[in-house]
Amino acid sequence: MRIILLGPPGAGKGTQARVLAERLGLAHISTGDLLRQNVTSGTDLGKEAKGHMDEGALVPDELVNKMLGRRFDAPDIKNGFILDGYPRNLNQAKELDQILKEKSSGIDLVIYLNTSEAVIVQRLTGRRVCKSCGANFHIKNMPPKAEGICDNCSSALYQRNDDNVETIKTRLQVYDNVSAPLISYYTQAGKLKRLNADGGAGPVLEKMVRLIKLS
Ligand code: AMP
Repeated sequence: MRIILLGPPGAGKGTQARVLAERLGLAHISTGDLLRQNVTSGTDLGKEAKGHMDEGALVPDELVNKMLGRRFDAPDIKNGFILDGYPRNLNQAKELDQILKEKSSGIDLVIYLNTSEAVIVQRLTGRRVCKSCGANFHIKNMPPKAEGICDNCSSALYQRNDDNVETIKTRLQVYDNVSAPLISYYTQAGKLKRLNADGGAGPVLEKMVRLIKLS
């Protein structure tokens, strides 16, 4: 099964994609995680991407598309995948269709996580991420067992550079301007299913699993 999770920053795409991928035996592909890995290891791609990411702007399509194309060459995508954070605009959606067509494949389902702005800001400002395994926590909604330490691998947690109120506002504007048209793109393709993602991570996950089983 090949699934896209769509929704604004803070909709819970990363948290849900990680758990869902493990439960369904699918690869989890997060372009945000891949870009952050490049920034941390100081690659040329990371150096070019960093400024855009810190501002809350999108990284240029050519860079992200090339990175994604390479990720699709890995063997673990054979059983299917969950895309989180890609596509972010119509150009990327068309590029994705093209990459998959060349592999005689296509997207099966797009799940849109509908989330209110108040919930988004509360989630993003309280988010903490593991430096090593990338697991997400929240200081109130999903606190780690020991403060500042990852439950899974005991590495330190950090706050993303772009999880501050000002950058969150820019990211939401970018989302409204360039990512929201994806909703009609995938609705027209008959692939989009929506669900309300304002609730806790557990109940939202179960709603997603039911949707996937029905599709
Ligand atoms: P995320 O982890 O999905 O919230 O992404 C964090 C940041 O990485 C975004 O604000 C963008 O700067 C960049 N990014 C992630 N995915 C993409 C993408 N598909 N296209 C362009 N920029 C991206």
